[in-house]
Amino acid sequence: MSTAPPIILWFRKDLRLDDNLALTAAVETGRPVLSVYILDDSDPTIAPLGGAQLWWLHHSLLSLKKSLRAAGNDLVLRRGPWEKVLGELIASTGADAIYVNRLHDPAGLEKKRSFADAQAARGVKVAAFDGQLLHDPRRLTTGSGGSFRVYTPFWNAFQRQHEPRPPVDAPAKIQKFPSPPESDDLDSWNCLPTKPNWALHFKESWTPGEPAALEKLQEFIEGPLDTYKTDRDFPAKTATSCLSPHLALGEISPFRIWHATRGLDDISREDLIHFRKELVWREFCYHLLFHFPDLAEKNWNARFDALTWKKDSKRFHAWTRGMTGYPIVDAGMRQLWRDGIMHNRVRMIAGSFLIKDLLIDWREGERWFRDTLVDADAASNPANWQWVAGTGADASPFFRVFNPVLQGEKFDKSGDYVRSFVPEIARLPDKFIHRPFDAPADVLRKAGVELGKTYPHPIVNHAEARDRALGAYDAVKRGD
Ligand SMILES: Cc1cc2nc3c(=O)[nH]c(=O)nc-3n(C[C@H](O)[C@H](O)[C@H](O)COP(=O)(O)OP(=O)(O)OC[C@H]3O[C@@H](n4cnc5c(N)ncnc54)[C@H](O)[C@@H]3O)c2cc1C
Repeated sequence: MSTAPPIILWFRKDLRLDDNLALTAAVETGRPVLSVYILDDSDPTIAPLGGAQLWWLHHSLLSLKKSLRAAGNDLVLRRGPWEKVLGELIASTGADAIYVNRLHDPAGLEKKRSFADAQAARGVKVAAFDGQLLHDPRRLTTGSGGSFRVYTPFWNAFQRQHEPRPPVDAPAKIQKFPSPPESDDLDSWNCLPTKPNWALHFKESWTPGEPAALEKLQEFIEGPLDTYKTDRDFPAKTATSCLSPHLALGEISPFRIWHATRGLDDISREDLIHFRKELVWREFCYHLLFHFPDLAEKNWNARFDALTWKKDSKRFHAWTRGMTGYPIVDAGMRQLWRDGIMHNRVRMIAGSFLIKDLLIDWREGERWFRDTLVDADAASNPANWQWVAGTGADASPFFRVFNPVLQGEKFDKSGDYVRSFVPEIARLPDKFIHRPFDAPADVLRKAGVELGKTYPHPIVNHAEARDRALGAYDAVKRGD
């Protein structure tokens, strides 16, 4: 076994061996590799992760450790400020290089730069590689050299740029450092909820880890991709890839996904392009975050600072619990709580309800999603919330207020989605499944529904709430 100093491979949001350029480069040096994951509660680019994602992280790290061991390596876990932990590891192992994959999240960039400079001065090389994104937000610019504000020109420029590079296979063997430092016990991080164990059902929907992510990609290509464009908006169908939580912690590379969807003769071009366009929405969100680091805190469009939000903890609570009296909103919020996920169409409906019907600040919704989504993402979450709010780049206009009843009737016509998450109204006929408040008394009785008792009355009247939202928006238009 080599006695050469190790290269520290610092895993962050790239919990995979496949298409991991930092790992491949470290292996190619022929030197031992010390694989490390640091849980740093003080660094917003790494943690604190929300509760649901911590559950995911726990299982993902177990999976990564297993894969590393199978390749002859292992994983050291440490908790604490990353610069301190890395400093300790360098001191105790004599490592003279840190290899890491870039996070295109500008938070803490200065700290990272000064850390790299300080290490370089001590003879420790910090080498950064790409793999989180298909595009480089520093390099993809508009004709005038600026950043993009609208998706379509971004997509066009992305396509013109070049075909994303092919993914790199996982190394078969990763040389181990013979005397690795002690690792934390993962259980001591308490990432899993206990009292109560609200993540009880997560395992029914999810298997975290790289092998499951690659399998899911294959299943998607062989199945739902074929009808992606037509079916992706219907929450009762299994029509999308469900890859977002795997992408969020980097268990799968976007390059692997991109190239797996190349040259598929049996898939229509429309479905393929549509899927790729969605994948590139993720790129666009990171592009926005890179150029507007306050995406989760400030209105991207400062005109909306004039909007007056309501502080309404009672209604916010009803929204989080799926007790608004609007079945499609409630189904989505309960899916989120039970499975750590919500269908994209329903995210838009539930988000619009919070912002426009309840006039509650989009930032409160963003925070709730951040804590409860297994795919919570530093770019996609705030960018999409701002899109729904109308405050963001290329956003849905504020005056576009989703009608939760009509949206439900359009995208969950037979009520299958609502019935699976709101069982107390499951016996209502299709005609009233999205509007129990319009059902005649005998229909409610027959279905065993007692409004206000077994299922709530609507917490707001949508038509009135819509008018109120548009009234509040007037202040923005006037430039108050
Ligand atoms: C209010 C709101 C909050 C959201 N928060 C998040 C979040 O925290 N994390 C997250 O990954 N997505 C978020 N989204 C986007 C979207 O809902 C999810 O990416 C999608 O539901 C994931 O399902 P999928 O993997 O089956 O997607 P697919 O339809 O299979 O799409 C493939 C991939 O493309 C990307 N993608 C698709 N749609 C979007 C989109 N609108 N924006 C950015 N990327 C997209 C995702 O990485 C996704 O995995 C949010 C959307 C809304 C409306």
